[in-house]
Amino acid sequence: MNEITHRKNLPQSAGIIRRLSERTINQIAAGEVVERPASAVKELVENAIDAGAKHIDVVMRDGGRELISVTDDGCGMSDSELVLAIERHATSKLRDEDLVNIESLGFRGEALASIAAVSKVTLVSRAKGADEAWSIKVDAGTVHKVAPGAQRQGTRIEVRDLFYATPARLKFLKTTRTEYGQAQDMLKRLAMANPEVAFTLGDGNRTTFQAASTLQLGQEESRLERLGSILGKDFRDNALVIDAEREGIRLSGFAALPTYSRGNAQHQFLFVNGRAVRDRLLVGAVRGAYQDYLARDRHPVLALFVDVPPDFVDVNVHPAKSEVRFQDQGLVRGLIVSALRHALAAAGHRASTTVASAALGAMQPQNNLPYSNFGAQPSARAPSGLSDAMAELQQSYTSQTDQMTLDGGAGQISQPTARGVDIDAVQPSDDFPLGSARGQLHATYIISQTSDGLVIVDQHAAHERLVYERMKKAMESEGVKRQTLLLPEVVELEERPAARLIKRADELEALGLVIEPFGEGAVVVREVPALLGTTDVKGLVRDLGDELTELDETLSLKERLGDVCGTMACHGSVRAGRRLTVEEMNALLREMEATPHSGQCNHGRPTYVELKLADIEKLFGRR
Ligand code: ADP
Ligand code: MG
Repeated sequence: MNEITHRKNLPQSAGIIRRLSERTINQIAAGEVVERPASAVKELVENAIDAGAKHIDVVMRDGGRELISVTDDGCGMSDSELVLAIERHATSKLRDEDLVNIESLGFRGEALASIAAVSKVTLVSRAKGADEAWSIKVDAGTVHKVAPGAQRQGTRIEVRDLFYATPARLKFLKTTRTEYGQAQDMLKRLAMANPEVAFTLGDGNRTTFQAASTLQLGQEESRLERLGSILGKDFRDNALVIDAEREGIRLSGFAALPTYSRGNAQHQFLFVNGRAVRDRLLVGAVRGAYQDYLARDRHPVLALFVDVPPDFVDVNVHPAKSEVRFQDQGLVRGLIVSALRHALAAAGHRASTTVASAALGAMQPQNNLPYSNFGAQPSARAPSGLSDAMAELQQSYTSQTDQMTLDGGAGQISQPTARGVDIDAVQPSDDFPLGSARGQLHATYIISQTSDGLVIVDQHAAHERLVYERMKKAMESEGVKRQTLLLPEVVELEERPAARLIKRADELEALGLVIEPFGEGAVVVREVPALLGTTDVKGLVRDLGDELTELDETLSLKERLGDVCGTMACHGSVRAGRRLTVEEMNALLREMEATPHSGQCNHGRPTYVELKLADIEKLFGRR
């Protein structure tokens, strides 16, 4: 019914096919290319970058509605080029009309025409080496004559009353603040990819963003410097260098330590051949790489740059050019995952520098910073040399990790035995990266003295991590060792959790826990993972039962190993609230030093905090 009435209402002319006017074509195209002020800013700044500019200044009044102006010191345009520039499908960038090997940011030749179709544009430009500047005006697609203008080398484009010619689009713009913010984010992305270019953004009254050129630095430093100036100094201090190559694809950039993470994935940036792109590929790959180190709701901060031969990627997917298609998606994803994992493993148990400053902040009465915020706190600390020392130690210990452990058989922590060195005979020394244990507080925290400070270890978090890493390692090699209980334990549960446990009995056995059904609502436990040490079997099985209830049925325990090991570790020998002997504490510290990723627990929280003497002196006003 409705449809019929609707059709009746169509104008009679609907049946006649007509060619659209150039103006309408441009307005339709503009709808795709310039969605909002931020997209106009992106196109104009990309043009400036393509023109080889070293300084780019952007001003946006009223969130870009009233005015967007972009000034650059690039190659500029002659009077005849100015006329062509604002024509649709006119570009200087597609050599031989080759859509396969695209090396510039622009290539479609439609941005200026689109913007000029829906606003009032003034372009003033002076070409390199030219004596005079020229200007051209376009008003909603109506082009005025080229006239002499005033401008030093480069180009200035002023866009006024954006979308005034397309009121429908104008209506959809958000608040000044939102539009401005979006453009600022866009500009920051462009700035991350182009560290050699200096940028400013202002709202007409003040400069809200600026990034100085890093021209004098080497490529890697220059990039880190730029990323630091945008993502914060903390990022710079907590970033790992990423550099990998596979089959002609190069991946570089910086990724933050897991302890420097954020509550959403908005701080993850991907650039493909210098172009900022949004790609779900990145989110998935990053999640995969960090899954061992971060809780599900925490997201690492990172900026990755993929460089591929131009013919390996199609950038011509969408008019806004913010999506790309790789010839081999899997190859890129695999490269990202393995490079990140590699960097994280090499970082060993280095925890974020912000952890210590958050701790110091928390100790200072005026300034109470909760740990959950540690990623966001400004830090004045330089990265410590601790990570290097750790890396070295890890190298020399890797071959013995199997022997050094919380030895399950004895139900006690045994001292690590290094090849050629009998560690039992060596007195604990402050020279160890994590120092020597001096005491335990609240049956939960180990305090140890290092050569130049002190370390506080959360014994439970640390142990949980160690169990997890050992479990993972064991599963990869000879399998998890089990310890037979002298007296099998019967654990009474409710029916459903008991049934769930039994259903997963095979998987649990692979993790070292052997259970069998024991009537309705009960299981009998015969063997437990040896590496847990003395185990509170009842508590462990009950918690696992609960955990399985919450766990997605489709996930294997191996996929949720972090959670399962966490639960197991809770009932092992080093849980919070258990008193440890000095030997046990030192064994734990030594194992942490030798275990990759022990700087954070399975949920991305730090397992230890290090305070340098200098920091402590500051606390007491000695510095
Ligand atoms: P595209 O960037 O895809 O080529 P545009 O419509 O954005 O298309 O620009 C058209 C042409 O105008 C460009 O190819 C370039 O030659 C010229 N141009 C645009 N902006 C600038 C600028 N800031 N400096 C120098 N030339 C420019
Ligand atoms: Mg362009």
